[in-house]
Amino acid sequence: MKVAVLGAGIVGVAIAHALLDEGHEVLIVERQEPAFGPSRGNAGWIAHTDILPIASPKMLRQVPKFLADPLGPLSIRPAYLPKLLPWLLRFVLASRPQAYERSIIGIAALQKLALPAWLARAKRTNLTRHIHQRGGLYVFDDAGALAAARKVAERQAAFGIKVEMIGPAELRQLEPALKPAFVGAAFHPDAAHVSDPHQLTLALFEAALERGAVFEKAEVSNIALGERPALIGPDGWQRVVDRAVIAAGAWSGPLAAALGDAVPLDTERGYNVSFPDVTGILSRPVGFEGHGFVTTPLDSGLRIGGAVEFGGLEAPPNHARTRRLYDKASRLIDGLPAFDSGRLWMGFRPSLPDSLPVIGPARRNPRVIHAFGHGHYGMTQSHATADLVAALVAGRQPAIDLSPFSPARF
Ligand SMILES: Cc1cc2nc3c(=O)[nH]c(=O)nc-3n(C[C@H](O)[C@H](O)[C@H](O)COP(=O)(O)OP(=O)(O)OC[C@H]3O[C@@H](n4cnc5c(N)ncnc54)[C@H](O)[C@@H]3O)c2cc1C
Repeated sequence: MKVAVLGAGIVGVAIAHALLDEGHEVLIVERQEPAFGPSRGNAGWIAHTDILPIASPKMLRQVPKFLADPLGPLSIRPAYLPKLLPWLLRFVLASRPQAYERSIIGIAALQKLALPAWLARAKRTNLTRHIHQRGGLYVFDDAGALAAARKVAERQAAFGIKVEMIGPAELRQLEPALKPAFVGAAFHPDAAHVSDPHQLTLALFEAALERGAVFEKAEVSNIALGERPALIGPDGWQRVVDRAVIAAGAWSGPLAAALGDAVPLDTERGYNVSFPDVTGILSRPVGFEGHGFVTTPLDSGLRIGGAVEFGGLEAPPNHARTRRLYDKASRLIDGLPAFDSGRLWMGFRPSLPDSLPVIGPARRNPRVIHAFGHGHYGMTQSHATADLVAALVAGRQPAIDLSPFSPARF
């Protein structure tokens, strides 16, 4: 079959490979360049150990505190608030205990597939050098938060996720550059991170082309429904295919809506600063619980970032936010380079209110398949999603129940 994949972020590129495996003719359509969006500058964690949705009873309690600080870990640009209200309402609904538990089941099922799918793809494309399995840490400087983390660890263990709660001495052995502020940490020995998200997405993209995928640069404005889907672009550009996959990240909303699936997709904007060629300070990814930032020792340098800002796809970045993240980090990590030597970046997480992506056929035409909205975990879940999409294209039963990811769930 001829299958078009719309979007050359990590999810689209992963899907291209899974489709090539099955002998399909693959066309990748991207309006910018491969890895243009968040797939370029994300933190590079393969965080399959994270199974809790952002929307939770605990988060609802914390939101007022977070919003009180305009540069805090969570913020809403006031001008964007009216547009965001329907999303926020869904977020509140997703935070109710029953909905929260349902989301966990869906996330855990997808996360379970994530690392094996990455390792298998890296092996098949000769890119294993890009995957580092040195584990990951969440560190705590607050005893109450650490106690709560023990409960999370129990839940993770119940899903078969390895987690070790460690004390300050063990933590210092693992990461000597962390200041002695921490009362303990959750260590995930299986967690992985990538060499550099941009380099790896490009390497996978090139590998897809070598395997026979075709790339076209075009902005798809619509998908016309007929016996076969037709991608419509500018100036009469049109490509008729047997199947189309929408993997356009945070920009997927209007295309999905035109196919009858008005899903509440928005963007959680995230920020970071990277210090090219700075290595050796930290050995593995570290999440600083309660501070809203993470660090990753990428092969390309040290990256420090995080934050969630609701402000839509158009507003320019506010790097005062990045500065704030850095200032916090420099109070908690020894030996950071000066802020001004870093490279600043902002990216658009494609987010649904219940922290689950949309994976499934479009309501008006099952020959079009949605694969977007991976929020904080698109890098992690890319190849797992790709395998599920390939099953849908082939008409096979996917490896997991896809009802939690249905576009019709809203
Ligand atoms: C600060 C930050 C840190 C993060 N850290 C992590 C992490 O550590 N681990 C993790 O798993 N995830 C992380 N994420 C999330 C992750 O980056 C995203 O979920 C993921 O990159 C989404 O990939 P995607 O392929 O769906 O979308 P994108 O990367 O946005 O790709 C979509 C592509 O579609 C193209 N496109 C859009 N519309 C059209 C159109 N109409 N026609 C043609 N092309 C179009 C865009 O140009 C874009 O290139 C992070 C995100 C941020 C912002």
